[in-house]
This record gives sequence, structure tokens and C-alpha cells, in this order.
Amino acid sequence: MESPKSNTETEIKSEESKSESKETKQEAWGYDLYPERRGTFTPKISNILLGKEGKENLEKIKCEKNVYHCVKNSPIVKTMMAALKSSGCPIDIRRHISCEVCDYSVSGGYDPQLNQIVVCQNVSTKEGMVQGVLTHEMIHMFDYCRNHLDFRNMEHLACTEIRAANLTHCSFLSAWSQGDASWIKIKKAHEDCVKTKALYSVMAVRQIGKLEAVEIIEKVFPKCYNDMEPLGRRMRRNSEDMHRVFREAAYYGYDI
Ligand SMILES: [Zn+2]
Repeated sequence: MESPKSNTETEIKSEESKSESKETKQEAWGYDLYPERRGTFTPKISNILLGKEGKENLEKIKCEKNVYHCVKNSPIVKTMMAALKSSGCPIDIRRHISCEVCDYSVSGGYDPQLNQIVVCQNVSTKEGMVQGVLTHEMIHMFDYCRNHLDFRNMEHLACTEIRAANLTHCSFLSAWSQGDASWIKIKKAHEDCVKTKALYSVMAVRQIGKLEAVEIIEKVFPKCYNDMEPLGRRMRRNSEDMHRVFREAAYYGYDI
């Protein structure tokens, strides 16, 4: 299964939560998913024995190699980078992308405070996964750059998660590319996938009830689902789409 886990990414807690009543507010803001980022990471002896930890440096080198390879070769990552650059938010891979040890439940994240993408080196170990993380998080970066997204606003958060799921993960549904199901059915399946994926992402980031999250997603869905900037189309798996997007990038005025 190449598709990323349904709840594999999240956004990173804001420092601002610290100023308010510590425990409750931090909890409400999210979970401790990025220990290295916050300086709390120490390899656990049980995990070292399982071979899960204790090889962080090797993992980091491998992760950085995968990032570099995607940035140089992946049409979709290159298109996102060009779109960001054209929107006035160019990516410097040393400054804006960081390979780190994360909680095993996430594969990546976006830190709006530092405007940085985290690639979880212990989870996203394959180049395909790194490409997925980079594309997804670059959509958040794009929204943050273009729309001055406020990640504390639940509607903003739901919207950017809908867009990320829409433009990447869910378009890799097999029915979408096979064309043997009716269009209505495919469309419905795709919409359901986006809603589900966005729901998991929102719930991974904020401690929020499922019903409340569903309500917010439904509210912003029509607008955010149809906003396909900056890729212009939903990607289909095993299709020419990625290359097409890259070829068309110049027409959108992206500086590739
Ligand atoms: Zn996300």
C-alpha cells in the first residue's frame, strides 16, 4: 500500500499555547508528536532493543537524501516549490525542510511558526512517502503564504487539510484512475475520501470531538474542495497528471 496512513501527519503545536494555562491549553492544542523539535527526544531503551531507535543519524542522512532526490526529481514537488516561489515564499531546503525523529503515529508535519516542514525520518523511510509528506505539507505552506492561514482557526485548519487530501492522497484512489465505475460513484468516493482524511488530520492536530470536526469540515467543504490552487487538478495515480502539472506550471506563471 503506497497511500500514506490516514492519520500520519499533523501540524505542530504553537508556542503560543504556553502562555496560557499550561496543561489544559497545551492538551487542547495537540499532542507531543515531535519530541526532537521540542528538545524532549531521548531514545527509549526498549525501542533501542527493538532496533527502533539508536540509529537516528543514519536515518537522518537517508531522509535528507530522499528529500534532496524529491526536490530534484519529483514533478509534483518541483511544481509546488515553483508555486511557492511565485507566491513570494521560496523554499530553501536547508532552512525550510527538516528531517527529525517523531512519534510513530505521524509521518510529517508543518510548523507555521518556523515556516518549516518536518519529515519524520523514523516513519517516512521511503522516497515515495517523503514525496507524499513534502507535497502535503507544501500545500499547507502555500496556504499559509497565500492566505495568511491561522492554524488556530478550526475552519482554516479544516480547509487546508481538505485541500491537501484533495490534491494528493485521495486522488490516488484506484477507482479514480480505472474509469470503470460510474462518474457519480467515483466523485462520491473521492469526496468521502477527502472528508475522512481531513477529519483524521484535524483530529490528530486538535483535541476536538468527532462530531464537531465533521460539522466544521462539512461547512467549509464545498469552497475548499473546489479550490485547486496551485496544482489546478487532482492527481490520479499512475497517470500522466504529475508530469502534466509540471509541464503546465509555466502557464500559471510559476518560475521553474
Ligand atoms: Zn495536513
